[in-house]
Amino acid sequence: MNADHQLLELVEAFDLRERPAPFSRCLKCNAPVRSVERELVEHRLPKYTRLEYDRFLLCEHCESVYWPGVHFARLRSLVESVSAESATSKAPPDREAQ
Ligand SMILES: [Zn+2]
Repeated sequence: MNADHQLLELVEAFDLRERPAPFSRCLKCNAPVRSVERELVEHRLPKYTRLEYDRFLLCEHCESVYWPGVHFARLRSLVESVSAESATSKAPPDREAQ
C-alpha cells in the first residue's frame, strides 16, 4: 500500500483540503499546537534537531514537540499539491438535486 495514496484518501475522506492550517493540531492527541522558541523545548530535543532548527510547535495538552523536518516538508508539499488540484477541479453541481 502506497503511503501517499493513503494520505490522499484521508484528505478526501475528511475534506482536509478546505482546512487553512493542516498542521495546527497535535498528531497524538489532536489538541491545538502553538509555535514556540527553541529555548522553551531544547532540553527535550535530539542534539541534531537542536542544532538544525529554531522554530518548533508544542502541543498545549500532551506537550509533544514538533519541528519542520524532512517528513513535515514532504507532507506539506503533498497537502499543497492536493489543494492546488482541488482549486482547479471543482466538481460540477449535482444536477439531480435541483
Ligand atoms: Zn498532544
